[in-house]
Amino acid sequence: MNIKISEIENSESKSQEIHFCEIFEEFNKEVPVKAELTAELAGQILKISGQIKAVLVLTCDKCLNEYNEELNIKVEEFFTKNSIEEKYTDEYEIKQEGFIEDLNGKDEIDITDFVYQTVIINIPNKCVCGINCKGEEILKKYTREEITDPRLEIFKRIKIEKDN
Ligand SMILES: [Zn+2]
Repeated sequence: MNIKISEIENSESKSQEIHFCEIFEEFNKEVPVKAELTAELAGQILKISGQIKAVLVLTCDKCLNEYNEELNIKVEEFFTKNSIEEKYTDEYEIKQEGFIEDLNGKDEIDITDFVYQTVIINIPNKCVCGINCKGEEILKKYTREEITDPRLEIFKRIKIEKDN
């Protein structure tokens, strides 16, 4: 899904509502990623803002079970049509606040890619299925059993004997 900056420029409101709903198989094979976004043009600056909602199928770091993680991402991104035409004081303020992507005169923005990248950077670093995750307890129990289980001691001895 693409938006055209020239179309926004030619519209009366200088803005465009984007209703996005697509399946990304890597995130979730059944539930689509949805986004309600607004693209607004002010001079050379295009602002895309709104909300992205995704339900990701992730693997829990602790218990290794698959679980669903709901993401509600607030979006506010700025694009500039062409950095060569930089003579705007407003733009300077935005630049100081954060990242502004230069379109280098390109007329289209790939919204599918924009949504995809935004979801990617919002995937949590630590994936835990929930506050009731039993992962750590399973791990502790396993470690204890390994130490005290006499059957395992036998295996350890066999290994040592073989090495000698
Ligand atoms: Zn878990």
